[in-house]
Amino acid sequence: MREWDGALTPGLVNAHTHLQYSDMAAVGQAEHGGFEAWMSAFMELYPLPRDWSASAAAGAALCVRAGTTAVAEIVTDAEAGSAVHDAGLHGIAFWEVLGWTDRAWAEGGESIVRAELAALPPHPAVGLSPHAIYSLDTSVIRDLARLAGELGVRQHIHAAESAWEDAYVRTGTGDLAERWRQNGRGEFALLRDGGVGTGVLRYLDGLGALTPTTHLAHGIYVDADDRALLRERGVSVALCPRSNAVIGLDPAPVAAYLSEGNAIAVGTDSLSSSPSLSLWHDVAALYGIARGQGYDGDDLHARLFAAATAGGAHALGLADTGVLRAGARADLAVFPVSASAPRDVLTELVEAGPAEASVTLIGGRVRWANSPDHERTTAHV
Ligand SMILES: [Zn+2]
Repeated sequence: MREWDGALTPGLVNAHTHLQYSDMAAVGQAEHGGFEAWMSAFMELYPLPRDWSASAAAGAALCVRAGTTAVAEIVTDAEAGSAVHDAGLHGIAFWEVLGWTDRAWAEGGESIVRAELAALPPHPAVGLSPHAIYSLDTSVIRDLARLAGELGVRQHIHAAESAWEDAYVRTGTGDLAERWRQNGRGEFALLRDGGVGTGVLRYLDGLGALTPTTHLAHGIYVDADDRALLRERGVSVALCPRSNAVIGLDPAPVAAYLSEGNAIAVGTDSLSSSPSLSLWHDVAALYGIARGQGYDGDDLHARLFAAATAGGAHALGLADTGVLRAGARADLAVFPVSASAPRDVLTELVEAGPAEASVTLIGGRVRWANSPDHERTTAHV
């Protein structure tokens, strides 16, 4: 028997992160004036030589300490590809695909991506992450959606994260479009053809990319029609409020997502755009944003708790995860709290949850305990 003091919860599900960038925390500790400024700061550090494997492993360890038991991890460099598996985390390692023009793709792009995906450790699971609508040409996004279906893997896409994207996709104009033209990417169909006249989500939908086996990251610049489309297609959004604030973006329409009934999850994003990988801190930020946007329902604590647990599991298609139930996966965490009544504990976790768990169990195994000498026990609910 082992016994820990605190609140026993389902393990947290971090529905959007890039653990390999854990070594780039200098970027995430600063504040940026918008996506362009952040991207410049990121690109100053990204090309420097670095041990991506160690960086991703450090990030995975921080996730486990934070009480996270499953992640949607985006892998950009292959050396970072085994961190989720090695840490014993559940979830999906999404291989990131970016930078392809239609022309280059037609010359064997698909077989390269198939090989890259096949080289990732198959456990816990792999997926495809078409990076974003501005970093991949049109037919590449369409082909990746088809390929994901064919391989039976999930997709995870950055979408509606910056206001730039909107002008880019509608009319092929704006700062991002100009920057890309100057960088020799003017042959992207959206730039060549002057956009497609719709927003990001309608564009992705037209390419077959919005399916129940896809979830998006960010979803900030969306309107009521976009949110309705996401509900229709069964697509979850991983909200990353602290990353959005560090980059200097607007908050996502959290209150609207909640009141309209969209499926939401919570992500920290990476340490290159967030101060920590502690999911409760993003939950607290979402709480503040939702109240600030006028959401006054007394179910807010319960709904955000669900977003960080069952909502994340749903976004990743993980069965029997994110819930405390007989027969569910033993992915659990115990958090130190000062309250004792269940309702007060819920309030405390959501509004001011701790950075670290006391104990994190994944698949019934203790993967993190901050008091290893405390050996007697029963976890109590
Ligand atoms: Zn991201």
